[in-house]
Amino acid sequence: MKKAFVTKAQVEEISKKYPTPFYLYDEKGIVNNARDVYKAFSWNKGFKEYFAVKATPNPILMKLLQNEGCGFDCSSITELMLSKSVGACGSNIMFSSNDTPTEEFAYADKIGAIINLDDITHIEFVEEALGGRLPETMSCRFNPGGVFQMSNGIMDNPGDSKYGMTRQQISEAFKIMKSKGVKNFGIHAFLASNTVTNEYYPQLAGQLFELAVELEKETGADVKFINLSGGVGIPYKPDQEENDIYAIGEGVREQYEKILTPNGMGDVAIFTEMGRFMMGPYGALVTKAIHEKHIYKEYIGVDACAVNLMRPAMYGSYHHITVLGKEDAPLECTYDVTGSLCENNDKFAIDRQLPKIDMGDYLFIHDAGAHGFAMGYNYNGKLWSAELLLKEDGSVQQIRRAESPRDYFATLDCVEGFDKLDEIMTEEGF
Ligand SMILES: *Cc1c(COP(=O)(O)O)cnc(C)c1O
Repeated sequence: MKKAFVTKAQVEEISKKYPTPFYLYDEKGIVNNARDVYKAFSWNKGFKEYFAVKATPNPILMKLLQNEGCGFDCSSITELMLSKSVGACGSNIMFSSNDTPTEEFAYADKIGAIINLDDITHIEFVEEALGGRLPETMSCRFNPGGVFQMSNGIMDNPGDSKYGMTRQQISEAFKIMKSKGVKNFGIHAFLASNTVTNEYYPQLAGQLFELAVELEKETGADVKFINLSGGVGIPYKPDQEENDIYAIGEGVREQYEKILTPNGMGDVAIFTEMGRFMMGPYGALVTKAIHEKHIYKEYIGVDACAVNLMRPAMYGSYHHITVLGKEDAPLECTYDVTGSLCENNDKFAIDRQLPKIDMGDYLFIHDAGAHGFAMGYNYNGKLWSAELLLKEDGSVQQIRRAESPRDYFATLDCVEGFDKLDEIMTEEGF
């Protein structure tokens, strides 16, 4: 049973001040989960979670994680800027980008972020970007190719993915980097996404620990950290069993003691770059039913659409829906829950069993806290929603206001006719 972290009465109160649709985040859930992550890996002295900023790029939420000891994993210059803005610097920022422009490498180095190279050709590229030198601490991303399979059948296809270096390249890269002055080395890999199994990290860790031992022997590079990256999943569907982060931490420890410790590498730090696991369950899209339509199927139209949460439209992802105030009502209706885009894939749910929905009912779309708001866009001239934080004391803080037409048109102000647009917006009170 999935339970919403707010009640209908709370949402009625919130929406008086902040009209739907909006994102709502649960401070208590975020903080408690981060504490569990740190406890689960407390056996490793250098452990650090670098929150994947791309999942939920909001500085107030980032600050919550930073207070629990997290650093930030960035994929672009704006994410680096956000991380710097909340006071992170140096080795508290990881730059795990790919296909990276020169100026982004330069900025990452300027703020002291650890650069994680996606390709062997990027050694020279970074050297040039930094005026002929490499940082002392660097990391390389590994791609073993083939398929990555776990015992419950879950698998992914590293061999088909654009990321990382081959086994031979990473060895070569370490040698070149060492000759160019790099002193501290890291190994990174992201081999499977949204894994709802406690096996993924331990299995990946085993593979990377063996690689670390081999690379130290082959290249003489001093491996200081191993970055298990993201990919730890959450149960989007109510019948899935959630990951147990303590079992995951224990599984990684077993591999560590089996492989690294006996090889004299018992001081290697474990890093993670989780996004989804840190935020996913603790954010929801709250939207209101505004239309019902009976044609060949039954439709409920809501005031949010795919621009607010694109995962169902893009990946066919399941997001559980709770009709607030009807938590215990029988699931007597079958609906498609749709948004207003001129795109037939703009559906938050298809053939979903739900209680009978009345106009004005609030729908709580679960597990939207990561890769939700962040993947928004403006198609059909739709605007970005607000983001709100439900604090531990029950109060609500707006952590991003809703976009207005003035924001949406702001980048047009170089064109002729903006005066007219400006006039119209002023007339309409924007
Ligand atoms: C997306 C991403 C993450 C976070 O992935 P989750 O599935 O949200 O945990 C971490 N590291 C890198 C390099 C990524 O691209």
